[in-house]
Amino acid sequence: MLTSYQLEKPSLSWGDDGAPHSNQFDDVYFDKESGLEETRYVFLHNNHLAERWKSLKKNAFVIAETGFGTGLNFLCAWQDFLAEAPSDKQLHFISVEKYPLTKGMLIDALKMWPSLSHFSQQLIEAYPEICHGMHRVELEQGKIQLTLWFGEAEEGFAALNADVDAWFLDGFAPSKNPEMWTDNLFKHIHRLSHQGTTCATFTAAGIVRRGLQSVGFDVKKVKGFGQKREMVVAELKQPTAALSERMSQGQSWFNLRQEKQTEVTHVLVVGAGLAGANTAYALASQGINVTVWEQGDHIACGASGNPQGMLYPKLASQDTPVNRFYLSAYLHATRLYSILDKQKAFWDQCGLIQIPKNEKETERFEKLINEKRYPETILRAAEDNDREGSLLLPLSGWVVLTQLCEKLLSHKNIKVSLNTRLESLSQIHSASQPISWEAISSNQQACFSHVVLCTANDTEALDVAPNTPAHPIRGQVSFIDIEKAQAACKAKGESDYKIDINKVLCEFGYVSPSINGLLHFGSTYDLKDHDDQVRDEDHKRNLAILERLLLLPKGTFDSKECGGRVSYRCAVPDYTPIVGPVQSDKVCQQAYAALSKNAKWRSDKVIEPINQLYMNIGHGSRGLISTPLSGSYIASLILGTPSPLEQDISHKLHPSRFIIRDLKRSQNNQPH
Ligand code: SAM
Repeated sequence: MLTSYQLEKPSLSWGDDGAPHSNQFDDVYFDKESGLEETRYVFLHNNHLAERWKSLKKNAFVIAETGFGTGLNFLCAWQDFLAEAPSDKQLHFISVEKYPLTKGMLIDALKMWPSLSHFSQQLIEAYPEICHGMHRVELEQGKIQLTLWFGEAEEGFAALNADVDAWFLDGFAPSKNPEMWTDNLFKHIHRLSHQGTTCATFTAAGIVRRGLQSVGFDVKKVKGFGQKREMVVAELKQPTAALSERMSQGQSWFNLRQEKQTEVTHVLVVGAGLAGANTAYALASQGINVTVWEQGDHIACGASGNPQGMLYPKLASQDTPVNRFYLSAYLHATRLYSILDKQKAFWDQCGLIQIPKNEKETERFEKLINEKRYPETILRAAEDNDREGSLLLPLSGWVVLTQLCEKLLSHKNIKVSLNTRLESLSQIHSASQPISWEAISSNQQACFSHVVLCTANDTEALDVAPNTPAHPIRGQVSFIDIEKAQAACKAKGESDYKIDINKVLCEFGYVSPSINGLLHFGSTYDLKDHDDQVRDEDHKRNLAILERLLLLPKGTFDSKECGGRVSYRCAVPDYTPIVGPVQSDKVCQQAYAALSKNAKWRSDKVIEPINQLYMNIGHGSRGLISTPLSGSYIASLILGTPSPLEQDISHKLHPSRFIIRDLKRSQNNQPH
């Protein structure tokens, strides 16, 4: 059981020539004389990458590596891919690293290779926080996708959903690092490979040859680099099971992959809120034409249209798939917003203070800090004395939501149609053409290869969507002119008090630093409340939250001075969004009926999702955190590329999880 997301730093010594050496493993990261040529010979040349890239037919090529180290192999692959592959293709590079170099170490190590500086600078800039888990880094406007697993190699490959074309086996020498060459690791290499997948490694050690042979690879020794006599190359010549079966790992009901990848010609995204805008952006930045249909007369007209939103990740002390999802999504979102908003027009990474609500929370926060559950760059004790026992989340901040959605939807591959409500969706089957979707709205009719429903609380109205327990929760946010608020403090005898908020403050609600002279705060949370009018009583509730956050007496502010906005979050009872391929409820119930007799039943019987139909809803109050990674995930499912999510997490997000849960629960209701 993982007790901390922190990772041990590598212990390095640096040679006179500036090359790093690992003290943990007593081995070198690369050959100091000729690291570049060695990488090119061992990994690129011996996997025949130049030839394979020149004639690449599919839209993406996938490399996986054991041991990211300084990223040298990645940088060479990136450089050569741009030179060799057709310009519309993508490179996915997956690597694992148990002892990630810090950014400073990476800068020092990569100084040695001036010919790669154009690439290394971009890698250094985008390098993720050093935190256990999966990180997706997008480079070259989405053309190069790096998936980094920070943690133990075996664990990372077990969590991966990908179909790898070539492997770079680059752990330290087997004699010095047997953990990188275990039987289980070879099993995962096989699970993640297909007929024609190749491997190359610098070593010719027997354990490596036997390991690859034992899982079915044809193994050959070839001439090693420089003074080295031999190295090993391998190819999987036998056919493998279908991808969906290889990925199912006993949970076939959460099938993620269409067995036959349909050409992605034109995707319809329904809904222009945060989920829709991020899904459209993730696809568009990977070269796909996207049309967005929005029933409203402007984008972000639902809960995503609040004037100011904040990133409030509520990091837990338990390591669960859902916590790992929010952690990974949070880090991903903050990276994306910083890339999209270099001018700091709509994203302020000012940090967030989380104040404990009660004794229990104080204890929980203490535990998080004392047990060092998270790296300090992500979460630490707040230094502010007024807020004893509070947490500081330095990477958090606030966003002007409509500007963010506008920025995402302004991508050149996206076309937005407003006042366009999806009314019907039907599949078109024809003998000569792949299956596609015909979508009809009040004002247009068009065909698309794929459809993604990002329709929040309106999903139920669409008969193709599965039954889910997602439901609306009313929220009213309030705002007040900061000068009027300051004057109110004075009028109530608090003349020395200065409203000076430079970080988002959260307790029972939140307040963000002011924008355009207004302080935004809130928010109410009301189930089964359909009143869409702003209410004075709700301003009063929000003001009580604000006064508490600012340590001011009750009744300092007057609700008559407040403005506000009402919207409906789309929430799910398990606080987890619903993201993934759509399967038919009925087909699922029939295929997995055995679960209602035995909840532990396992099956490899995979059923196909409904062709090319996906959903991305239920982000509740956390859409700013969860929608960017969910959008990238949906894009990976549509494009058939490596998933940016761990398998466990995909299962927790799966739209069919409610059907499977109900089948398992019904076992308890059966007569014994
Ligand atoms: N490919 C790298 C490059 O281009 O710089 C060099 C890789 S170096 C030879 C091997 C790497 O494997 C080291 O960075 C080491 O920390 C990592 N490593 C060793 N054991 C590991 C394990 N069990 N799980 C994940 N990474 C591991």
